[in-house]
Amino acid sequence: MPCPPPLHHSLDPTDWQALRTQGHKMLDDMFDYLEAAHEQPVWQAMPDAIYQSFQQPLNDQATPLPDVHELFMKTILPYSIGNTRSGFMGWVHGGGTAVGMLAEMLAAGVNANLGGRYQAPIEVERQLSRWVCQQFKFPETAHGLLVSGTSMANFISVLIARTVYLGETVRTAGVAAGTTRLVAYTSSSAHLSIGKAMDMAGLGSHCLRSIPVNAKYQFDVVALEHAIKQDKQAGLCPFFIAATVGTVDVGAIDPLAELAALAKREQLWLHVDGAFGALAILSDSLAPQLQGIEHADSLAFDFHKWGQVPYSAGFVLIRQHAQQLATFTSSAAYLQRSTSGMAAGSPWPCDEGPELSRNFMALKVWFTLKVYGRTNLGNMIAHSCALALYLKQLIEHTPELELLAPVTLNIVCYRYRCTTEAEANRVNQLLVNALQNSGITAPSSTYLQGKFAIRAALVNHRTQHRDIDNLLHTTLTLAKHLV
Ligand SMILES: *Cc1c(COP(=O)(O)O)cnc(C)c1O
Repeated sequence: MPCPPPLHHSLDPTDWQALRTQGHKMLDDMFDYLEAAHEQPVWQAMPDAIYQSFQQPLNDQATPLPDVHELFMKTILPYSIGNTRSGFMGWVHGGGTAVGMLAEMLAAGVNANLGGRYQAPIEVERQLSRWVCQQFKFPETAHGLLVSGTSMANFISVLIARTVYLGETVRTAGVAAGTTRLVAYTSSSAHLSIGKAMDMAGLGSHCLRSIPVNAKYQFDVVALEHAIKQDKQAGLCPFFIAATVGTVDVGAIDPLAELAALAKREQLWLHVDGAFGALAILSDSLAPQLQGIEHADSLAFDFHKWGQVPYSAGFVLIRQHAQQLATFTSSAAYLQRSTSGMAAGSPWPCDEGPELSRNFMALKVWFTLKVYGRTNLGNMIAHSCALALYLKQLIEHTPELELLAPVTLNIVCYRYRCTTEAEANRVNQLLVNALQNSGITAPSSTYLQGKFAIRAALVNHRTQHRDIDNLLHTTLTLAKHLV
């Protein structure tokens, strides 16, 4: 038999020593970047030449690693969105940590596939799941899974609830085969991923009712009760309530205990979207505000937001593991299990969610929790809330500014006062752009009851009171130029 000619070498380097030197340089560059998190501009627009460099076609020939790294340093690193920077306050972005970065490197080196099989990396994820269960006081029957983010966690929760309410035959026959029309409920402040989840589950985003909120932007439970009654009278099947802990606009917390009681009375599934807010459970001073979360049937949250784990790392916690398995377990000859050897350890994570190949994202979460510990992380989260209160008070003492929503956790919405509503919307929109372009500070924006709001979400552990002072001063300075 003719044997194939040898590949000159694998993809490993021929000169490991040179790689080591280069690797250490790359690591040092990232440490430098993170160490200077208070000094660099938060954000800067990409020059056109750099934008154009990303339009080049794929190269046929090899490019030396140092050259590609230099490209990264010049064209990518300076033009990211800047959420590692202390002045970043837009959307809900975590700041990441050097520890998380190092753990991510280790995970990439191990290159484990966490779809299943008998291996220590899966035990890391299972240990994490038990830690989460304990923090949220879920029963022993509960189980969790790391996912890419809360959008995915919300989707998985809707799918499990769907299977519970329609029966497992829905998995084979499909939603269209039945006559039951499932209806879900959330508040008008809920995240768009809940509607998307209904859409992707085949239930239809129009079958998600958007219930009004009260003056504190919380789910109006009386209006919810009324909507459930109406839907039942119309012959529909209410099945799912999605509460939010930390709404994306203002950081409101829905009345969980009341919603849990209602869900129990009406026999509905209670889901909690706690994307960023749920981790407030780590702070002894904030945890009481989350009372009732322990009654949820499913809980979705992110480690990559307030948990500061590098992107991405979300989590879904399901009260009854059996229901999770009943929704996702499938069998195939090539994925056969055994009681010993590499194919042991069933059920596998691929039986608990839609994905088969899964990365070892558990490692960066595990490192973060171990290295910092619960107390430090809880204090960091409480500090963000203290900064939000500080900003709120500064705004209340500044006649040119107006606070637009109550401050519950770490989000502050405000605007620069103008003579008319139309003028206020126009000026504040320009103001947010100018603030982001300044490179000094970077809030984002939203609309609250038709009012354009400058929105500062204090999520980054690096943000300090001087960043808040910068936001305030820059707001006032830039606004004076705009009006
Ligand atoms: C960020 C967020 C989401 C979406 O989470 P991803 O991790 O971005 O998928 C859902 N709900 C709320 C309340 C959020 O803040």
